[in-house]
Amino acid sequence: MSYELIQNKKVLVMGLGRFGGGVDSAKFASANGADVLVTDIACANELEDSIKQLDGYERIEYRLGEHHEEDFQKADIIIANPAVPENNQFLQAAKRSGVIVTSQVGIFFEYCKAKTIGITGSNGKSTTTALTYHLLKNSSSDDYNNVWLSGNIGNEPMLMLLDKIESNDLVVLELSSFQVEQLAAESKGPDVALITNLLPNHLDRYGTFENYCDAKEKIFAHQGAQPVSIFNSEDEIIYKWYQKYNSESARRCITYKASDMPEKIQTEFKLPGEFNLSNLAGAMSIVKLFGVSDESIAKCVGDFRSLPDRLELIGEKDGIKWYNDSKSTTPGSAIAAVNAFNEPVVLIAGGYDKKLPFDKMGEVVAGKAKAVILIGETAGKIKTSIEKNATENKKPIIKICEKLEQAVSFANTKAAAGDVVLLSPGCASYDMFDNYQQRGRQFIEAFKTLSK
Ligand code: ADP
Repeated sequence: MSYELIQNKKVLVMGLGRFGGGVDSAKFASANGADVLVTDIACANELEDSIKQLDGYERIEYRLGEHHEEDFQKADIIIANPAVPENNQFLQAAKRSGVIVTSQVGIFFEYCKAKTIGITGSNGKSTTTALTYHLLKNSSSDDYNNVWLSGNIGNEPMLMLLDKIESNDLVVLELSSFQVEQLAAESKGPDVALITNLLPNHLDRYGTFENYCDAKEKIFAHQGAQPVSIFNSEDEIIYKWYQKYNSESARRCITYKASDMPEKIQTEFKLPGEFNLSNLAGAMSIVKLFGVSDESIAKCVGDFRSLPDRLELIGEKDGIKWYNDSKSTTPGSAIAAVNAFNEPVVLIAGGYDKKLPFDKMGEVVAGKAKAVILIGETAGKIKTSIEKNATENKKPIIKICEKLEQAVSFANTKAAAGDVVLLSPGCASYDMFDNYQQRGRQFIEAFKTLSK
């Protein structure tokens, strides 16, 4: 395929990222004959892993540790990392100079030949996206050929897939709110759009919950000629959006809820937690659009396993089940995880402070947890909110630990046979770890050390 936007152009990739956020864009630009400048405020040693992935790609230069305004003005096109807000001073300067500003997801949508399914929301994006892919991949239907999984879910990066995707395929994409905004800025959107739920998140970037919801709603703004918009009717705000959009004659609007599920499908499904039924209901409402039957879903849904770091059962020791839910990076997801168990829960929580409120989490944890071990920047805030909600009968033991290993050892002393030990931080990991995956790995390591 020919990618005129990039071919033989001066392409600036803004934000390589320590975990390779810009790697796909830089590879794609280089592979298509562009002169590439990769710029990042982080310096070379912090970006070592990402830079290594670009070994062998030609015509790539680097400006690291700082940005230079003239680099942005001299470029033909800028591919901005989703983490860079639209009002960034360098992007603004580039736009004033007439430079095209786009993004990885913007380029993907420009050139993708197949129908796109975009899934966003505060929680359950990855699970709903992976479930949708699993059900489509393992069913046969005349409505599509091949299925691809990409986006924020971190498997195959979007741009390097472009050459493989055919027009009769389907692409299932997890979209972060930042990616949704980048798409909307270019008047683009998926053919099928679904929002799982809305809970406060990323308030450090958006300021208010309202601004955050506005960013998510943009997924419906530019869905093309035959838009299909899917709404979780159990979420108050999303249901209001359904009522609003349903009055548009060109748009097909669909609602779903966890209790819609046929019993034979529910009994086959292995993931714990009511919220995972909601994720499955969302995925089912998508796959049914493409001719997948209930019988086919019932046949393959039982093979779907939790993704790593999402309520993942990592082992059982002395009758205690240990779950790794490191991907829980909002109070809402920690609440959902705690509520997924009928057994007494020993919870390990806390982490980087995204300035989200912990009142509701404090209430639920005080009511349900047997003990809570807190780590990270938010430990004090979460402790206060649990104590506020504790009563004479419901008063979990609370302990603050410096390190995750200590939290694991303490949890082990407080749990008894029949209990669940759950790492569901309700916070991002950046205060103590590189990312949630590293936090999950350290949790598993610490658990294994206990079992030795
Ligand atoms: P995301 O990609 O939106 O972060 P994931 O599917 O990776 O969502 O799940 C992350 C965590 O969020 C899970 O481990 C679980 O604790 C919680 N979670 C998942 N789905 C839901 C849901 N529908 N409602 C509330 N919390 C959820």
